[in-house]
Amino acid sequence: KPPQCSNPSGLIGDSSCCDYETVDKLNVGFSAKLQEIVSMPFFRYFKVNLYKECPFWDGAGLCMNRDCSVETMDKQKIPEQWRSDALGKVSIATSNQLFGAMPVKPAMIKDQEFCAPDIATDEVYVDLKDNPERFTGYSGPSADMVWKAIYEENCFDVSKEMTAGCQYCESERKKLKEQQAHPEEHKHLKENNILVPPEPAPIDAKKPSKEQMDEIFSRVPKGKGDLAQLMKGIAKEDGPEESCLEKRVYYRLISGLHASISIHICDEWFNQTTGEWGPNLDCFVSRVGMHPERLENIYFDYVVLLRAVSKISDYLASYEFCTGDEAVDKNIMSVVMELVDLVKQCPPTFDEKLLFQDAGQGKKLKNQFRDHFRNVTRIMDCVGCEKCRLWGKIQTTGLGTALKLLFSYDDASLKGHRADGILSRSEIVTLLNTFNRFSESISAIERFGVMYQQRLRDE
Ligand code: FAD
Repeated sequence: KPPQCSNPSGLIGDSSCCDYETVDKLNVGFSAKLQEIVSMPFFRYFKVNLYKECPFWDGAGLCMNRDCSVETMDKQKIPEQWRSDALGKVSIATSNQLFGAMPVKPAMIKDQEFCAPDIATDEVYVDLKDNPERFTGYSGPSADMVWKAIYEENCFDVSKEMTAGCQYCESERKKLKEQQAHPEEHKHLKENNILVPPEPAPIDAKKPSKEQMDEIFSRVPKGKGDLAQLMKGIAKEDGPEESCLEKRVYYRLISGLHASISIHICDEWFNQTTGEWGPNLDCFVSRVGMHPERLENIYFDYVVLLRAVSKISDYLASYEFCTGDEAVDKNIMSVVMELVDLVKQCPPTFDEKLLFQDAGQGKKLKNQFRDHFRNVTRIMDCVGCEKCRLWGKIQTTGLGTALKLLFSYDDASLKGHRADGILSRSEIVTLLNTFNRFSESISAIERFGVMYQQRLRDE
């Protein structure tokens, strides 16, 4: 077994009682099964609207690189049942165990939803296999603006008592005061649903120069590199320093998603000199490897997704995959059941009951958490590269689905539910594709670790 040079160790924390090493071991089993699942048409064919206007700012821009474009597919190839609205519909909460326990409002987004619905007429069908998530060349102010806006959603209006010692919340309270001092200006922005475009972050602000990289590598004792440990002294923590669990969870989810996307880019990088696709170690080291928290946050998303899948394992067992061909349906079910068996052998990975416990503020915070996450799914319409938008939508919807399962349903309320009563087909598809993407990131971390050791030996 290769040395775990870049893998973090110890407890993942923040409501997860699982450790990093356990995730590495579990992923060996999950990775092959998830890849088998996402290669099946049920999980590969996806209906999406890629042409909605950015609801938050003008001029989201469009990446014109060939690799940014999405290949669509012929609608006729999709089984009728998957096209029907019935499968896309999301059920209405009836139990008071469900998140919000509000009266049903059919025309509006349901309280238990963590994603903004992707309703529009100009939807297209795509085969995800024809559109792999990888390097596209999309970068610069447009990408920076989207990431910045996503991180800025990590801002909850919570009470002073609850967040004592939380510096980030302090700065949010300051902002709120400023807004109250200029109510007219903010009323206008709010009424027009305008999110003030954040200043683009300086590009590559944290990318090390070649000299820095050489220096970093030279400090690693040959054959004994522990990248994560060494980098600890070099890289500064990304996230806001603060003590409120819910905000940390939110931040880790987003940062983990960002890091995972970066790994996919680095793992399938287009080398313009050779004209070939392949892994790029320098890209991995500078974007993820030298930031231990980013690595850790990928594992954090993984345990959250695994918990969500474990919560619906009985539900998946009764799902009707409806391809129109019984033999194919049986085959999908048997592979999904193999995944369910693996999930059932796992130790608990995340305890969602520890969140939103504050008697006074818990419910308000939960609603804000949900609303902010919904906004993140809306921000995906501002991504100026079709393929990045496609995978951004899939993964934010997949994470939103996981959050819905964690925070809108308790275990008892999921027992005995009819399978199509809780999740739409696209939610199941995005959940398992997202889990697969994180699983691939964990596998890639291991491969990059081996490459890194090799480089050290070669130097
Ligand atoms: P970026 O990744 O843009 O990061 C910007 C800043 O955020 C960094 O300077 C750093 O300060 C901070 N940061 C970076 N990572 C983290 C983290 N994990 N946690 C906390 N802070 C962090 N490009 C592709 O080639 N293919 C794709 O499929 C693709 N999909 C995308 C999907 C979305 C939703 C978005 C917004 C962008 C996507 N991009 C994609 C663009 C890509 O993510 C980068 O923005 C781009 O490659 C430029 O990278 P960068 O090194 O400048 O830093």
